Amino acid sequence: MSQTAEAERTTATSRKIYCANCKNCKLVPATVDDGSGYVLRVRCDAGKWRKRLGDEKLYKYFTVIRRSMDECDSYEPMGDEQEFLQDLKRSLPINDEVYE
Ligand code: SF4
Repeated sequence: MSQTAEAERTTATSRKIYCANCKNCKLVPATVDDGSGYVLRVRCDAGKWRKRLGDEKLYKYFTVIRRSMDECDSYEPMGDEQEFLQDLKRSLPINDEVYE
C-alpha cells in the first residue's frame, strides 16, 4: 500500500461520527419537575444511548454537538456534515433553557 493510500485509509477509519448529523438523533421535550415548563433533550431513536443499568440515556440539547461515536452500525447521515455542524453550532443554546 502506498503512503498516500495508507494515510487516506487511516483518516477514513479514524473519523468520528457526530450523532447530531444522524437521522436517529431526535429532539424531544421533557417536562420540568415543578411543571413550570419544558426543557429540550436529545435521544437516539436506534436505542444506542444507554445508562450502565440499561435504561435509555437522554442528553441535554445544548450538548448535542459533543455526542459522537467511533463507529455505529445505525448511523444514518443527513447530508453535508461540516456545513450542518457549523450551522448547528451557531444556533444551539449555550445552556439548558426552560421553555413555557
Ligand atoms: S444511531 Fe448511532 S450515530 Fe445515530 S444517533 Fe444513535 S448512536 Fe448516534
